[in-house]
Amino acid sequence: MSRREIEKKITEFWNKEQFFQRSVSERSVDDEYVFYDGPPFATGVPHHGHILGLTSKDVFPRYWTMRGKRVERKWGWDCHGLPVENIAEKELGIKQKNEIEVMGVTKFNEFCRSKVFYFANEWKKTVETMGKWIDFDNSYKTLDTTYMESIWWIFQKLYNEGFIYEGKKILMYCPRCQTPLANSEIQMDNSYKEVTEKTATVGFKIKGREDEYLLAWTTTPWTLIGNVALAINSKLSYAMIDVFGKKFILARDLVEKNFKHFELTKEIPGKELLGLEYEPLYEVPTDEKKGYYVIDGEEGVTSEDGTGIVHMAIYGEFDYQMIRKYNMPIIQHIGKDGSLVLGPKEWIGMWFKKVDREVIDDLYSRGLLVEAKEYTHSYPFCYRCETPLIYNAVDSWFVDIQKIKPKLIQKAQEINWYPENIKEGRFKYILETAPDWSISRNRFWATAIPVWKCECGKIKVIGSIKELKENAVEEISSEVDLHKHIVDGIHLKCDCGKEMTRIPEVLDCWFESGSMPFASKHYPFENKDWLAKNYPADFISEYIAQVRAWFYYMHVIGVLLMDKAPFKNVVVSGTILASDGSKMSKSKKNYTDPNVLFETYGADSMRFYLMSSQLMRAQDLNFLDDNVKEIHKKLMMILSNVKNFYELFASENNVFNDVLSENVLDKWMISRTNELIKNSTKNMDDYNTLGVCKDVLEYVDELSTWFVRRSRNRFKSEDLKEKREAIRTLAYALDSLSKIIAPITPFIAEEIYQALRKTKYEKNVSVHLEDWPKSNEELIDETLHKDMNKVREVISIALEERNKAGVAVRQPLKKVIVSGALIDKKFFDIILDELNVKEVELIEGEFSVTLDTNLTKDLLLEGAARDLMRKLNESRKEMGLTIKDSVVLNVLTESEMLKEMINTFSNDLKKSAQLREINFTPSLASSKEILIQKEKLLFELTK
Ligand SMILES: [Zn+2]
Ligand SMILES: [Zn+2]
Repeated sequence: MSRREIEKKITEFWNKEQFFQRSVSERSVDDEYVFYDGPPFATGVPHHGHILGLTSKDVFPRYWTMRGKRVERKWGWDCHGLPVENIAEKELGIKQKNEIEVMGVTKFNEFCRSKVFYFANEWKKTVETMGKWIDFDNSYKTLDTTYMESIWWIFQKLYNEGFIYEGKKILMYCPRCQTPLANSEIQMDNSYKEVTEKTATVGFKIKGREDEYLLAWTTTPWTLIGNVALAINSKLSYAMIDVFGKKFILARDLVEKNFKHFELTKEIPGKELLGLEYEPLYEVPTDEKKGYYVIDGEEGVTSEDGTGIVHMAIYGEFDYQMIRKYNMPIIQHIGKDGSLVLGPKEWIGMWFKKVDREVIDDLYSRGLLVEAKEYTHSYPFCYRCETPLIYNAVDSWFVDIQKIKPKLIQKAQEINWYPENIKEGRFKYILETAPDWSISRNRFWATAIPVWKCECGKIKVIGSIKELKENAVEEISSEVDLHKHIVDGIHLKCDCGKEMTRIPEVLDCWFESGSMPFASKHYPFENKDWLAKNYPADFISEYIAQVRAWFYYMHVIGVLLMDKAPFKNVVVSGTILASDGSKMSKSKKNYTDPNVLFETYGADSMRFYLMSSQLMRAQDLNFLDDNVKEIHKKLMMILSNVKNFYELFASENNVFNDVLSENVLDKWMISRTNELIKNSTKNMDDYNTLGVCKDVLEYVDELSTWFVRRSRNRFKSEDLKEKREAIRTLAYALDSLSKIIAPITPFIAEEIYQALRKTKYEKNVSVHLEDWPKSNEELIDETLHKDMNKVREVISIALEERNKAGVAVRQPLKKVIVSGALIDKKFFDIILDELNVKEVELIEGEFSVTLDTNLTKDLLLEGAARDLMRKLNESRKEMGLTIKDSVVLNVLTESEMLKEMINTFSNDLKKSAQLREINFTPSLASSKEILIQKEKLLFELTK
């Protein structure tokens, strides 16, 4: 059976016995380990990155369950916002926002609702395939009315406490989606792209001077229509150059760089330019404020590129600050939909990016364009629809981050980050530099903002369905849905007697997911006591881009509501890249479908690979399928083999905690097991799966290539005590190991655990209902570990010697001479047996290992006996015999040497190949012919 087939069987067993439910319900409600599952969108199928998160969020809850905690895990779905709206738009063929208004928000939103769970089944399948335990069917959803009601309550509370305000801000804006985007949305997932476009260097004619121009450079020629000022740096030096009779002013430092062929006629200190008025390039209606003159932009203007003179329109963060500072006219010449609304008549209605070309041609024909050049720079695009973003002044609702900032920073000190450096690094920086949080979206499919306004100027903010009913003009059912298309139809009674109307905006979906600790519990309408007892969460985990997204927003809302950070421990993972280090991309097909990897190697291998990688230390990983294969080979196959070996003896043993053997190999294995338990406990407590995985790999290697291999004869021993000790030690090791690996590789852990028990899969016991093992410090003998390592080193050197001398391991040798290592006698048997020598000789001096390779007649006879044993056992295998079947050996040979050998070693031969008797015969019917030390022998085995 493939790993995948085995894993499927185990999943069925788990489901049948309801082990997940039991692993939660059998733990006390008074001792919870609280875990928040960040809700994913179901608008795509799960990819490698999701699988990483799903694994890490399964491993630690499983571990803490084994530590005795009650760990409730409820799946969550992020249902709102642009990811869903964009799918709906695509399917409905919507190109512009107003088409949604034309078709009706109700129809659009209901279509969105129908698309939210489009891939939910794919997720369910993946979660099950991975062996992840979570309550999937009773998931919370951000579109639940209970969830949205909590959001309203949170909004109202923050509004009443003065943490939410309405204002105008310059924000990155998508003219296609017609909504501002949050900073984090632009920072996430590579919104910036390299673009090459035409830039313009343009002369602005100075008023009252003959042919004198101020020279400005822009990467966005369309913004020139809305120009209201030119900013210089009064500390810089400027110069005038002569270009075919026209005089242009620019920063002195940039003359050589860009205009070295033209004559420099005069130098001008920057401050002499301040206040100079110029003629607008385009006539557009403005308010009465004064514009079109030179202002001081100070450090915001440099002489690094361009001309050292910056053209100012509202479409830039710095520009807008300056325009506000100097109280200049605000010209918004681009409409909400990205088309030109002010400027030359023939361009009105044109898409703003198309205006670039028109402006360049027009200024050229008017003799104002000095240069138009291709320029490559990075520019932000909408992460959903890939439209180039613009800065725009928009009305928006904000969370007043500046007001709460000192507290956000202070409360963040309570959080433990894994890796640690994020605490004082990235997260602190994000908090310190955070702008106010724009939480309103001019969109459709999300929780409606619960704000109603009246003509008289009054504002009412609603915090619950009950309150809505009490204040509504219309009759409202208790099952009212809080989406825009429903609540827009509800009006409130104003004190002035008129009706209040809801504002059109909906909430940022990060406000929803950031409120998850409360809204998923319908707090404070339900679970008030529970939350008081179980806030903050013990653990959360997501990939690094969520530091400035979900982690940050959850922190803001948590601190605002509870005056306490919402999580105690946070594991931050890195980003999974394709094998060549590029971004994984569906269209480039540069990665293997995770389902194929699950089919080929099983989920355990994938889980172990991810948990053993630097991803768990927030570093990126080039994902290599070969490494999953390697773990399959090095861990899963080896563990299966050890387990299969044990199963040969499983019926003879039912004891898994016997640690009393005096045998040195047993003592060593028991000691190593306790060391593994001790270290793994510490590592898991530190959320360090890398450490656990590294130790497990080493341990499994020692268990299989040393302990089991060196103990094979004891397992077959007729000395029952010796045999029992070996079996029980292996049982102890496997039983402990199954518990240690249970959180990371839950399937093979279960498989081993069941294999140890005679009730295999029949009784409703599972490794995942077990307690985490406790290490017994008294059983850890570090000297023994060191000694055993030395013994293994001696053996490996000696085997190399044998190899060099060309003597097969089957051929016994006289002795091994070890110099400069104090090896205790108790290890001699291991060395003698492993090296197939008769004697260990210790001498003092420099450390060295020498084999005596002289062969005596006795040694040669013994070597011949070993050869024969091997052939006999090969034959047994071919005949399909098991350890229990005894046989008769019939031999025919002329060789005196071989006859002597058989007579001398008849007992050993009988034991090794389970022979009842050995007969020399003059003839053989169906026999095998072999050569031993170049002499001929025929033999036959009969039952
Ligand atoms: Zn967009
Ligand atoms: Zn009113």
